[in-house]
Amino acid sequence: MPYLRQPIISILAHVDHGKTTLLDYIRKSRVTAKEEGGITQHIGASEIPKEQLKKICGNLLNLYKTDLKIPGLLFIDTPGHEAFSMLRKRGGMLADIAILVIDINEGIMPQTKESIELLKKYKTPFVIAANKIDRLNGWIVEKDKPFLDTLKNQRHDVIQTLDTKIYELIGQLYEHGIPAERYDRIDDFTKTISIIPISALSGIGVPDLITMVIGLSQKYLQNKLEIDEKGVGKGSVLEIKNVKGIGTTLDVILYDGMVKKDDKVVIGNPDEIIETKVKALLKAKPLKDIRMESRFTSVPQIIASSGFKLSAQNIDNVIAGVPIRFLRQNTPQQEVEKIKNEVKEEVEEVKIDTDDKGVIVKADTLGSLEAIINILKDNNIPIRKAEVGNVNKKDVMSLIEMDEEYKVIFAFNNEVVEDAEQEAKKEKVKIIHSGVIYRLVEEYEEYLENLKKEKEKELLKEITTPVKMNFIPEFVFRQSKPAIIGVYIVGGKLKRDIWLMNQEGKTIGKVHAIQKAGENVSVASEGDQVAVSIDGGVVGRNIKEGDTLYSSLSKNDYKILKENEKILTDSEKNILEEIREIKTRQDKLWDVF
Ligand code: GDP
Repeated sequence: MPYLRQPIISILAHVDHGKTTLLDYIRKSRVTAKEEGGITQHIGASEIPKEQLKKICGNLLNLYKTDLKIPGLLFIDTPGHEAFSMLRKRGGMLADIAILVIDINEGIMPQTKESIELLKKYKTPFVIAANKIDRLNGWIVEKDKPFLDTLKNQRHDVIQTLDTKIYELIGQLYEHGIPAERYDRIDDFTKTISIIPISALSGIGVPDLITMVIGLSQKYLQNKLEIDEKGVGKGSVLEIKNVKGIGTTLDVILYDGMVKKDDKVVIGNPDEIIETKVKALLKAKPLKDIRMESRFTSVPQIIASSGFKLSAQNIDNVIAGVPIRFLRQNTPQQEVEKIKNEVKEEVEEVKIDTDDKGVIVKADTLGSLEAIINILKDNNIPIRKAEVGNVNKKDVMSLIEMDEEYKVIFAFNNEVVEDAEQEAKKEKVKIIHSGVIYRLVEEYEEYLENLKKEKEKELLKEITTPVKMNFIPEFVFRQSKPAIIGVYIVGGKLKRDIWLMNQEGKTIGKVHAIQKAGENVSVASEGDQVAVSIDGGVVGRNIKEGDTLYSSLSKNDYKILKENEKILTDSEKNILEEIREIKTRQDKLWDVF
């Protein structure tokens, strides 16, 4: 009989949808906490062993004809809502199965969408926990009960409300390319994703959820779960932590093979593959022993799948999310080199084909970097460089010559070194810093929008824009040198220093000043009545009462405005055309337009 390891489960959710509550419930499940052989705490993971699974699922295992073969379930319990909970391994996610928690009252939110995209991309099997059903009006809370059992005790109208919510969710999921259905209504689990209504807070539906996860694991993952329990240990680094009295340690999730004390260790740090040796393998002590001086206990060996803490030398610079391997002490160096190469290739998988022109991405872990790369690619944002680490001055300097739209550094869950911040300000390099991936893209879009507005502003500064105004009869404040008359602005913007013409296209003069209600202004807009002084204008000679005046555009102004028509209002567009017609009558060369 091959050794069957426990499937590794990851819980994903939009913030506040209940990921922590569900993890807490699973960790400290009331059904099990006081019992022998209860849920064991790993480093960075929680294990529910087989016996416990049986108790949690009760008769649901029989109901769904699930013959329990796996030795247990290992839940990764990293907090946080981002892709760093999507720990990676070669070719995809570290987790074998995911639980996507969605607040049934809120539906799909940005981080839910991101999770769905990543699950689809990595082809990771998953189920959906439709959480917070106890919040439905009139729901009677029966703690820890299977969903279908407690459903029987709910009022008819409450059941109907739940159904409506579930159908809304199914509709939303369908729009994201996920065919889903309430789990007890599914005929073919290979074609439809299960929705399990739960309350993470009171444990309702958790038996159903766990049963579905077991079923899914056994159905799709048999091959993946059969491992050589004496083979090379393969894992991912979850976190780097300094522990008092021990020094730097790595929290590791082992998904294949085994690890022994004194094993050789190979770590795939992106800039340098590290080779070291296991000093100690540490496991969490059971809760009742927590008063003793150390929370950890040293063990001689660990078999996958498992979460543990590694103490070793030369691990201070390790980055979270990188691959790690364990080889027996007597492994020939040739074999070690081979593994080093494999690990190197695995890390390089995340490095991307960079574009010549593009933004820079810096993230805290390999997993989050990969997730950001994916999302930027989906949004057609080209990437010039993507690396794990903090934002430094070199990153900023390398963007100085870049087009403005790519003069951007995405910084995820990391630090911006101080002199980098200053340099960025000086060189107008935009650093978009966030701990939430979808905010990065949103902020980039805002940045582009602002750039566009700035550019339009610059453009408008250089050219004359359309304006049309009526000379208000009898409003002549001065005949000439300069002429000062009252006008009503029909459309567009009247600005200082622009040339004016009349309705026949005859040039009158240049705007010297504009006064509105006795105050000097630089611009007057549609609907304003202002006094305008015109250098070169002489009332009675080249300006006549009742005249309509326009800005006298050059051909070049017209051409630029036509190319950037978006920046004009509808009334400005109309005036622009009137000006073109007048000009064409005067000057045949305007005919080309
Ligand atoms: P996370 O941000 O996804 O980890 O969400 P949390 O687990 O912290 O939950 C966010 C809030 O929702 C907390 O106040 C929880 O108590 C509450 N909550 C989570 N699950 C449930 C549930 O099933 N029912 C109810 N009523 N509240 C819940």
